[in-house]
Amino acid sequence: NLPDFGLGSWPARRARINPDRTALVQANRSLTYAGLAERVERLGGALARRGVRPGDRVAYLGVNDITVFETLFATARRGALFVPLNYRLSPTEIRYMLDDSGASVLVHSADTADLVAAAGGLPDGVLIATDPADGGFEAAIAEAGAPPDTAVRLEDPCLLLYTSGTTGRPKAAILTHGNLTWNTVNQLAHLDVLGTDKALCIAPLFHCVGLGQITLPTLFKGGSVEPVAKFDPGTILARIGEAGITSFSAVPTMLEMMCRHEDWDRTDLSSLTCVLYGGSPVAERVARAWLDRGVKLLQGYGMTEAAPGVSMATHEGTLDHPVAAGVPHFFTDVAALGPDLTPQPLGGTPAELLVRGPHVFGGYWNRPEESKASFVEGDWFRTGDVVRVDDDGWAHVVDRVKDLIISGGENVYPAEIEAVAVRLDAVDACAVVGVPDERWGEAGAAFVVVRPGAELDEPQFRAHLERHLARYKVPKHVQFTDTLPRNATGKIRRVELRTLAAETFTNGPA
Ligand code: ATP
Ligand code: MG
Repeated sequence: NLPDFGLGSWPARRARINPDRTALVQANRSLTYAGLAERVERLGGALARRGVRPGDRVAYLGVNDITVFETLFATARRGALFVPLNYRLSPTEIRYMLDDSGASVLVHSADTADLVAAAGGLPDGVLIATDPADGGFEAAIAEAGAPPDTAVRLEDPCLLLYTSGTTGRPKAAILTHGNLTWNTVNQLAHLDVLGTDKALCIAPLFHCVGLGQITLPTLFKGGSVEPVAKFDPGTILARIGEAGITSFSAVPTMLEMMCRHEDWDRTDLSSLTCVLYGGSPVAERVARAWLDRGVKLLQGYGMTEAAPGVSMATHEGTLDHPVAAGVPHFFTDVAALGPDLTPQPLGGTPAELLVRGPHVFGGYWNRPEESKASFVEGDWFRTGDVVRVDDDGWAHVVDRVKDLIISGGENVYPAEIEAVAVRLDAVDACAVVGVPDERWGEAGAAFVVVRPGAELDEPQFRAHLERHLARYKVPKHVQFTDTLPRNATGKIRRVELRTLAAETFTNGPA
């Protein structure tokens, strides 16, 4: 038989060592590694009989559950590319991704059936419903026959993962089996993951944090993973104590909702050995709330293109650096982009971060120009993030290059202002964007969400910022608002805010 060292071989390889260990659990069912391996083999065969060939794309639309993993591994086993889609997008956006990826099969859950229909389905392809009432998914697995013998090598593509679309239209990063394997190795070099671990998978699996940070590493080690369909802070807190959950990976807004929940103080968190988060900055008070409970909270920094881990905090250092992004992973090189577009040593001066490593992707799907423009000197990926390293070697994500505001010739990083703003108890959230300004070129505009029940007026807000920030950094415009526009992983949709700010302030009060 042909060599298959891809992701699709993981269940069978683990089943050889620990067939009876639980791989996946959800409310109404669970699967051992042997059970998972068998279903993956059958589903791989069923995909092949539906015309899926190596290199083809199999899209998935649905909440976190066991079928996501079965489809991922089966697609990989067939040598095809798994394309998990964000079920919170609009039909138009889903249509774009189905067309862009050229998926020939779409596997979808009951709760996304309407979205699939509204997006226009898959006219030339095959739809498979995981809804038990439809029965299509189980019928496919019940068919006899494994996928045809296929060579899968580490350099072969495995996943088309769309970026969050924070700075523009989402781009599909092509991640190879090797990229995902090396990311797993990197995570395991940093974390004490055990085969007895029970990880909750609460971050969505269509996003790199959900898949790469703890989920794949736990499955690689033979631990068990419990996918959670819908994030509800109270339910998750209850589940941690009840099931003896050891670990999970979250985005900062989830951590915030949990530590503000009424059950927070009486939740037993003693089973947790590591809680990871990343994807956007965290407010220091949120990190402190978790660390104060004795939880080993670790920040990870990364991006879809790096599969995703670039750096991570360590257990030893996190108390001294509660909101820093840690140290680079074992097999990750970092550098600063120099003025002549060459890699320079990264130091205390904020600079655009370059990343290199076996986990870093080779390019975007269908975007040769952008792929080429994302690399310098061959294999250094331009992250688009401004980063600095402190005296202890810890990385601090300053902001995105694209979010930088240049006001009166001075560089103003919105993230710095936002971090200061949320230190005020009355401020729930704050986002700062740039608006065109006749006098300064660009000026800052702050959108501020006040905590329900708290009181805060503009002079008080300004006084707080002026106490902690240089004058030129204090936004010229301040607007109180009920909510900030956010995407599925809690990231602020700045593009939207920039448009709103331009409309509101450019011709507004001077
Ligand atoms: P797009 O690339 O489509 O504009 P995106 O960059 O938000 O969207 P992702 O790949 O999901 O898509 O997110 C990666 C980005 O998230 C990083 O480049 C960085 O800007 C931000 N990020 C990730 N981890 C952290 C962190 N720990 N602290 C601050 N920002 C982070
Ligand atoms: Mg990005």
